[in-house]
Amino acid sequence: MGLFSRRKTVFVESDILVIGGGMAGCGATYESRYWGRDLKVVCVEKANIERSGAVAQGLYAINCYMGMQWDENQPEDHVRYARNDLMGLVREDLGYDIARHVDSTVHKFDEWGLPMMKDPETGRYMREGKWQIMIHGESYKPIVAEAARKAATEVYNRIMVTHLLMDKAKANRVAGAVGFNVRTGDYYVFRAKAVIVCAGGASHIFKPRSVGEGMGRTWYAPWSSASAYALPILAGAKMTQMENRIVLTRFKDGYGPVGAYFLHLKTYTENAYGKEYESTWYEHTKQLVGDYIDHRPVPTCLRNHAFLEEVKAGRGPIRMVTKEAFQDPHKETVGWENFLGMTVGQAVVWASQNIDPKHTNPELTTSEPYVMGSHATCSGAWASGPEDYAPSEYQWGYNRMMTVDGLFGAGDTIGGTAHKFSSGSYTEGRIAAKAAVNYVNDMGNERPQLSEDEYEKLEKVIFQPMENYRIGRNEIVAGTVSPHYLLPIHGLQRLEKIMDEYVGGIGSHYTTNDILLGRGLELLGMLKQDLDHIGAEDLHQLQRTWELQHRVLASECVTQHTLFREETRWPGYYYSADHPKLDDSDWHCFTLSQYDRNSGEWAMEKAPVFHIID
Ligand SMILES: Cc1cc2nc3c(=O)[nH]c(=O)nc-3n(C[C@H](O)[C@H](O)[C@H](O)COP(=O)(O)OP(=O)(O)OC[C@H]3O[C@@H](n4cnc5c(N)ncnc54)[C@H](O)[C@@H]3O)c2cc1C
Repeated sequence: MGLFSRRKTVFVESDILVIGGGMAGCGATYESRYWGRDLKVVCVEKANIERSGAVAQGLYAINCYMGMQWDENQPEDHVRYARNDLMGLVREDLGYDIARHVDSTVHKFDEWGLPMMKDPETGRYMREGKWQIMIHGESYKPIVAEAARKAATEVYNRIMVTHLLMDKAKANRVAGAVGFNVRTGDYYVFRAKAVIVCAGGASHIFKPRSVGEGMGRTWYAPWSSASAYALPILAGAKMTQMENRIVLTRFKDGYGPVGAYFLHLKTYTENAYGKEYESTWYEHTKQLVGDYIDHRPVPTCLRNHAFLEEVKAGRGPIRMVTKEAFQDPHKETVGWENFLGMTVGQAVVWASQNIDPKHTNPELTTSEPYVMGSHATCSGAWASGPEDYAPSEYQWGYNRMMTVDGLFGAGDTIGGTAHKFSSGSYTEGRIAAKAAVNYVNDMGNERPQLSEDEYEKLEKVIFQPMENYRIGRNEIVAGTVSPHYLLPIHGLQRLEKIMDEYVGGIGSHYTTNDILLGRGLELLGMLKQDLDHIGAEDLHQLQRTWELQHRVLASECVTQHTLFREETRWPGYYYSADHPKLDDSDWHCFTLSQYDRNSGEWAMEKAPVFHIID
């Protein structure tokens, strides 16, 4: 076929390879150049870093800023905050490391021209909440990308990375990555001394509330396809807290954010009958989680829990009371601007449904679960901590290096550190890059060796779906139904259905049990077998195929972790019906998994949680 004969193989040499040019990837690229003046720094991105990742559309607030110059908060305060919200389980060393550096990142954004809202009298950044500062952030991503572009030796846009490569000479050391250009179909082989994975979180592993043509409208970016997890998992890196999926309370149908409404506009929620409902569920929640319900602020999952129970009791919908706040013209403007700089779709949904929040209190809903390591949950890779701060059990090499040599990560990729958000993810990219430069320098003249056999075999595997389509396409039964292949969208819908019904999605009220999880794993196994028979009619569908492959592997990891943790740690995010209560005596720990790509087996273990800060 013409396409195959035209396909080129492009070899790229690098010292540091950054995979994914979102917030963390731009931070890693920028900082790699700062510490590694003479190094070859390459950033590879499946979209275009100008507008890629979760911040593509812009943001209205930077959610992680200490304000140490004005003594507003100290890093220790942020660790306490994140620990409380995650019901006790965070990597305090990693969180502290981000918090102590995050202000300098935000000051760079300010210097680079990001429009920050400032108090005209004090000159301080305007606060939306204790940790959030307000920005006019439509152009947030292009500004951040510009600095990365200038720092990189080369940015390769439109290349989807599918696999990491391992060193032929040294087991458990990364040597590079492979992928393909989603526009030309060229095959790319990257060799690198150090690799920093910054490939974002995972949406569309659970069935979304949006259906049909609206399916692409999810809260987390629909292009966040779990590569951040699948790439390290396949390379044998240990993962942590993958059961800690996030469910968000958001405005209905548009998934519009509620943070600015609660924090800045001081709106509040009520049930269908205009009543406050959270206190109704206090005793019930206390029986499940004990004193955690008395903590302030109330952990996010527990507020979700009250919402879900109230709806189950038949007193939904839950509404946000906007009518009072919107009488103030300033607050009304802020309310709308909050969407225009970040989630235009919510404003369009309200317009199309005749909802003017000045006159109608809009409905809220809870989202389908997502997997991510930078927002209010902490799924991701198990990483080594900072030399000056991490307990010895959390240190086996360089800061933010995973359990694979030379493999680093940041942002959604790294587990155990919730609440880093955009600024914290960028900061973690910088931290990982500094350590990666040290790693490369310490290697001296040694270079990882690629296995020709490995990358040639992978080329065949990666492009096989196009071959499947070419051979099978004339035997279509009807429409898109073929006896010889399934399409990526079919595989995706099957995955979402399995995760929804067996692993605790919206269809099962976020509830699962050990039997369901076991069956879910069997069905995921069958789906994995069928993925060998995906047909991709073009490069776009080939990208969809590999995104699906990554989502399926990450989903399997989520399911294994959920089965392993025998408690319900975060009611409101998910419920284990066999173990309905929080169990601090046995499960005040991290869960770790490791995948063996040869056998397909998962090994699970516990790791201790150290409370470094009082
Ligand atoms: C709806 C929403 C609202 C948010 N609101 C706020 C807010 O108000 N304030 C705030 O501070 N933070 C907010 N956040 C959080 C913030 O956006 C994230 O914390 C941050 O973007 C995470 O950075 P990251 O680099 O890990 O992922 P991303 O920024 O998503 O970057 C991942 C990058 O990897 C690329 N990629 C993925 N797979 C591959 C692959 N296989 N090959 C090559 N490239 C790949 C992607 O295209 C993307 O560019 C919000 C997030 C969302 C989704």
